[in-house]
Amino acid sequence: MSDVKIVSLESKDVRFPTSLGAHGSDAMHKDPDYSCAYVILKTENGLEGNGLTFTCGRGTEIVVTAINTLSTIVVGKLAGEIFNDFGNFWRSLTSETQIRWLGPEKGVMHLATAAIINALWDLWGKIEKKPVWRLLADLTPEQLVSVIDFRYISDVITKEEAIEILRQSQTGKEQRIQTLLTGGYPAYTTQVGWLGYTEETVTRLCHEYLALGYTHFKVKVGQNIEDDIRRLRTVRKIVGQDNIVSIDANQVWDVNQAIEWVKRLAEFKLLWIEEPTSPDDVLGHLAISNALKPLGIGVATGEMCCNRVLFKQFLQSNAIQYCQIDSARIGGVNEILSVYLMAKKLGIKVCPHAGGVGLCEMVQHLQMWDYVALSGDKEGRWVEYVDQQHEHFVNPVVIKNAHYQAPLVINVHK
Ligand SMILES: [Mg+2]
Repeated sequence: MSDVKIVSLESKDVRFPTSLGAHGSDAMHKDPDYSCAYVILKTENGLEGNGLTFTCGRGTEIVVTAINTLSTIVVGKLAGEIFNDFGNFWRSLTSETQIRWLGPEKGVMHLATAAIINALWDLWGKIEKKPVWRLLADLTPEQLVSVIDFRYISDVITKEEAIEILRQSQTGKEQRIQTLLTGGYPAYTTQVGWLGYTEETVTRLCHEYLALGYTHFKVKVGQNIEDDIRRLRTVRKIVGQDNIVSIDANQVWDVNQAIEWVKRLAEFKLLWIEEPTSPDDVLGHLAISNALKPLGIGVATGEMCCNRVLFKQFLQSNAIQYCQIDSARIGGVNEILSVYLMAKKLGIKVCPHAGGVGLCEMVQHLQMWDYVALSGDKEGRWVEYVDQQHEHFVNPVVIKNAHYQAPLVINVHK
């Protein structure tokens, strides 16, 4: 089966008019139309690998063009040829001798890489008849590490160290799989706090999500301090003092402005401030983190972090307390696994970004693998959950009592 040939790559520009309802609105992205560049890899025996990268509407066609440019590296290959040497294949995709100039390993080209790589993992799961979290969990430490390109990160983690960490994490794996299958993985919600929502909508949604069992709520901030104070007061009043509230500024502030702004919101007992400033500013995040530490507020970022090199710097400098990988960014699953391994070694919690289009559907697999086969821990970790665009998927996420339920079904498209 793994000798099956990939015969074509189809790419699609898919957009939803979410800006009409202010769904997904934040201080920086005031009118997102949740969209994706979608990839369908077709094989000679009819199996398909489906993957995507998330976009905000205009410009999706540029990502689609980039995917088409990279397609020649995938089409014509045997699936087994790719999966048996996945780390090197990943490098051939990201370091193509001429295309590389357009990145390297960042921006539109890396979004396109993520879409293709995610489609390949979907195909691999279908060939093995396993959901991707289980496929990952069943790989030996040596196999898992073989999919990762360690170039640029071996000063923080080597292949050998990664194998050793994964070996140690095998203890208790079967029991954790059972725990996961029974209880699922904790979710927090951003649904209550989009910036464009009215006070009435925020109030209604807080009551709704509290009743659904959520204990961690995230609120968008950063446009107007008085509005932020008012909205946070409403949210705190409804969810109570025992539940968790975090905030997200989506990169809108300068470093000092972030510190001053968040200090004024500290009375609302916040767990983290997410994306306070530029996603490229490691030292800026460190300054914010140091300034907010005495207030008990952590710093989170990652949904727009461009690659494993920048993640390395965020993690090794302690600039963040919560690492927010995104399933449709950096170079897809292979590169994201390297971030999980660095986070594990450096003792930083991973709390994935999700929402958008298909991000919840994809990222749950990675966090479930992390729980089962790497960190072994769910405490103080959550996967973001937003109730949008799930209806378009054949196998949408299943949430029960604010927990993602482990996907079991393999729906094979013919
Ligand atoms: Mg965010």
